[in-house]
Amino acid sequence: MSETSTAKPSAAKTSAAKTSAVKTSAVKASIAGTSEPQPLHERLSFDLDVDIAVVGAGLAGLTVALEAARLGASVAVLEGRHVGWNASGHQLGTVMPGYGVPIGDLIARIGFEDTSELWALSKQGAEFVRATATEQLIPGIAPSEGALEVSNVDVGDQLISRLQMLGEDFETEVEGWQVDRVRAELKTDRYFHGVYYPKAFQIDGRKYVHGLAALARRAGARIFEDTPVVSIDPSGIRKRIVTPSARLRASHIVLAGNVHLGATLRRLSETLLPVWRYGAVTAPLGDRLGETIAFRGSVADSDGIDHFRVVDGDRLMWASPETTWAARPDRFATAIQRRIRTIFPSLDKVEISEVWGGAIGQTVHGMPQIGQLRRGLWVASGFGRQGLNTSAMAGQLIARSILWGDERWRLFSPFELVWAGGMTGRIAGYAIGQWARGSAAAAGTLARYRERARTQERIREARVAEANRQAGSGPAPLRPPPPRPRSERPQPTAPANSGEGG
Ligand SMILES: Cc1cc2nc3c(=O)[nH]c(=O)nc-3n(C[C@H](O)[C@H](O)[C@H](O)COP(=O)(O)OP(=O)(O)OC[C@H]3O[C@@H](n4cnc5c(N)ncnc54)[C@H](O)[C@@H]3O)c2cc1C
Repeated sequence: MSETSTAKPSAAKTSAAKTSAVKTSAVKASIAGTSEPQPLHERLSFDLDVDIAVVGAGLAGLTVALEAARLGASVAVLEGRHVGWNASGHQLGTVMPGYGVPIGDLIARIGFEDTSELWALSKQGAEFVRATATEQLIPGIAPSEGALEVSNVDVGDQLISRLQMLGEDFETEVEGWQVDRVRAELKTDRYFHGVYYPKAFQIDGRKYVHGLAALARRAGARIFEDTPVVSIDPSGIRKRIVTPSARLRASHIVLAGNVHLGATLRRLSETLLPVWRYGAVTAPLGDRLGETIAFRGSVADSDGIDHFRVVDGDRLMWASPETTWAARPDRFATAIQRRIRTIFPSLDKVEISEVWGGAIGQTVHGMPQIGQLRRGLWVASGFGRQGLNTSAMAGQLIARSILWGDERWRLFSPFELVWAGGMTGRIAGYAIGQWARGSAAAAGTLARYRERARTQERIREARVAEANRQAGSGPAPLRPPPPRPRSERPQPTAPANSGEGG
């Protein structure tokens, strides 16, 4: 696991406040520093026998551990680095219902009934986070309500059918926001309609993963950091795990190592396409941030490119760039700065305080990997960009199946383990990602051009009406008004592939 994917701790609310603001040029120095948190838990240095061994102390592994320990099992979590080392400690904290796959695609694949059950499970995952991420259980978690999904293109008609489906068929509270409402909250002409989820919420993501670890320990789970699992023998009733300095036996092993499982189970690792996503937090931006972004929940665009929210009152937290290889996060400070200026020109060039990255595991079908690979060997991985509700759901499903015989994880059986293409898959994944961003940018440019053209047309009609009024209501047809100077006409801008992709 030599590919350290993170730079500095995530910029969740409080940690952002503690970070001294540094100019973009100074971000590199601050990132190269040794601010990575050190392991808090001991290393496994003695042999151990447990009911359930969990590999990986990210959101997924810790939720399994918490839930199983609460249900009375003896649990050991083995983490190669430290709690929240990868994506789980570097996310934006937005908790939404659903999955990373459009609901219509799910219906087409598995039918309405099963989609409906899967959707309900995803909501239960979000409710698990809500019940766990309270100030009482995790002090400083700072929950706040509401998330907005905005469209880069003008598709009001599609919005209505989507709202109907989510609201009526999937019992999810949603509001459709017209363009004016979206733009009253977000001062940009980049976004058109929006879907508002009043029951979605956000939390301090970094605090959450450490809070989960503390709660799991309190419930009786044992967490060992700096303890990479080097081999697994899943045959037999009691399965065996080898770490550099100890051996462990367990009736059940839960693989929650995401893309870093590596040689331990190479064939399983190769069913995930690793995608590194990078986020940043700005320096305090003062009143100009509130004047530009009034909305206080999370915002994500429907193409999955940008995801942001206001933290600490006047800082902006923003995630956007992606690669299919591990890169130094500080390299993306300028890209995020540019991206913020592209979407919100009035913010101009913002100062970036902190940049970080984490690897998410993307499956070929886009759905998470949840289930039993063979008797007593479980997998909980592949949560992609939407890991908070889905990993919570996975943790509950697996713990309850082991301890209560709850078989609902079988709803995920249609989403098999499919090879993600190895290195070729990574190259193709990157190319497809860039292409998708480019075409989303082009579609957005076209939508804005059409909007400007419609506005100009309305102005022209008003001029004609005014000219008619002044000329009286005589029978002679009016000549069209003289052509306007070129500078007044709507101009299509070139699809901004550069600067758009971030
Ligand atoms: C910038 C960014 C923003 C995001 N924002 C959001 C958001 O707002 N909302 C949301 O829902 N999701 C978000 N996500 C996605 C979410 O963070 C992930 O889906 C989720 O954290 C995945 O959790 P995990 O437990 O599967 O994996 P990980 O966090 O990768 O945890 C796996 C752990 O297993 C350990 N491990 C692996 N192999 C071994 C081994 N052999 N032995 C021991 N330990 C091992 C690793 O060290 C690691 O700590 C975001 C992700 C990123 C990168």
